[in-house]
Amino acid sequence: MSSAKYVFVTGGVTSSLGKGIISASLATLLQSRGHRVTIQKFDPYLNVDPGTLNPYEHGECYVTEDGAETDLDLGHYERFMNHPTSQANNVTTGSVYQSVIQKERRGDFLGKTVQVIPHITNEIKERMQILGNSGDYDVVITELGGTVGDIESLPYVESVRQLCWEKPDDCMVVHLTLIPYLTAAGELKTKPTQHSVKALQESGVFPDVLVCRTEHEINDSIRRKLALFCNVRPDAVIQSIDAETIYDVPKLMKEEQLDKVVLKSLGLNFSGEADITRWEEFVFNLNNPKNEIDIALVGKYVELKDSYKSISEAFIHASANARCKVNLHWVHSEKLNDLSAKEALQGMHGVLVAPGFGPRGINGKLYAVQYARENKVPFLGICLGMQASVIEYARNVLDYKDAHSAEMNPESSHPVIDIMEEQKKITEMGGTMRLGACDCELKKGTIVHAVYGSDLISERHRHRYEFNNAYLDDYEKSGMIATGINPETGLVEIVEIPDHPWFVGVQFHPEYKSTVANPHPLFVGFVKAVLKNKA
Ligand code: GLN
Repeated sequence: MSSAKYVFVTGGVTSSLGKGIISASLATLLQSRGHRVTIQKFDPYLNVDPGTLNPYEHGECYVTEDGAETDLDLGHYERFMNHPTSQANNVTTGSVYQSVIQKERRGDFLGKTVQVIPHITNEIKERMQILGNSGDYDVVITELGGTVGDIESLPYVESVRQLCWEKPDDCMVVHLTLIPYLTAAGELKTKPTQHSVKALQESGVFPDVLVCRTEHEINDSIRRKLALFCNVRPDAVIQSIDAETIYDVPKLMKEEQLDKVVLKSLGLNFSGEADITRWEEFVFNLNNPKNEIDIALVGKYVELKDSYKSISEAFIHASANARCKVNLHWVHSEKLNDLSAKEALQGMHGVLVAPGFGPRGINGKLYAVQYARENKVPFLGICLGMQASVIEYARNVLDYKDAHSAEMNPESSHPVIDIMEEQKKITEMGGTMRLGACDCELKKGTIVHAVYGSDLISERHRHRYEFNNAYLDDYEKSGMIATGINPETGLVEIVEIPDHPWFVGVQFHPEYKSTVANPHPLFVGFVKAVLKNKA
């Protein structure tokens, strides 16, 4: 078996240049040439994983099939590659140190002084090669979080240097950088890039390819200058001009021949062209809608839209599939009361109540559910959004006035959403929720059975609280029914109100599984129902 090839993607000049999207676009191009590709992200922070982070810090926490709580870039990887990632695809400095310290406590280092070099770098190098050694991939793309020159990135850059030295034929480095445009001078400036490449070179890492983020076309003379001063081949200076949407990037990278340059550097066959016809069809459908709808997304983190990244991307996939433009209106749940809910949601063709944790903004979510239920507006509740629909129904239909989730009010006399038995003794926060893929059986003749077209589905979870089955009879007698049940535990995973045009609450997170190639059936179904409601 020939060894996997490694592409390391580093960032220079500033953060937020879109290393994740460049990595995902490169993966898409290599995949369409028949290579088996995966992408992994190495983050230099000390949290063991991003599961304990507030979404305001780095946006959404993305959950994989195997229940890893990861950086939101893994969502982009899956959406572009249409291939699942796992715990091994996201490594943080916290997890690296945790494992090295555990080894030290076990005595694995045989009395040696444990140091950043070589112990931390060895651990990083080992993690960098786990997926490559699995035999499942031809190319492993590794995105290094942060920017070259950051103190906390040093052990990663050093690990890349060592791997490039150990496997010179199998490793290469793509450096993503910024070419700023100075309006006053009317010029694109290459100096910041020259400096960031120098910083890399001082650490012994020599980039093979430069991907240059820019607002204006980079002409030949700038390309030649960058190549000369940064020590790369002229054809390895790749322009990454600002795009309308992230989904335009694979095509732009194909035009710039990023895939060919990378394959050439890795010593692989680069003849022929990547076939991205299906991708281009998706982009065409996205850009040429036949209809338009307005959907309210009600949540408490709406100031930072990255907090709901997978949801907004899932709407984009569904929108291309249904040829219907979705205008998402971000509604802050903390600002909703009885009156303002009506005002904010009037004119919306559909309402989505988002996931979340803790009591802040919960009342606004309940008002949003009530509005959608009473006015027969198509509704999709996800995780806490589903729980909110259950609480609202208890209060306003079953007449259990103080009904609540035990998360928000442990004293409620009607805890219609309650903590799971196995959660009661857990005291630590990190990685202890119900996480990852679980099976769910769908009832025939329901909305979900129709949209999934299947009796058994599997979806990803991330929560501690559940529908309280002690109340199931009360609900089903009065018109809210359980339409998806976990076959092993009997837990209610989906609720619907049959006497409503389209009312679905799901305990799991369908948004994590939506991809360009496989738009999620629930989002497609919801968009179609919203369109019907508008008509
Ligand atoms: N806070 C709720 C729970 O833990 C819902 C979580 C979520 O929306 N992801 O059950």
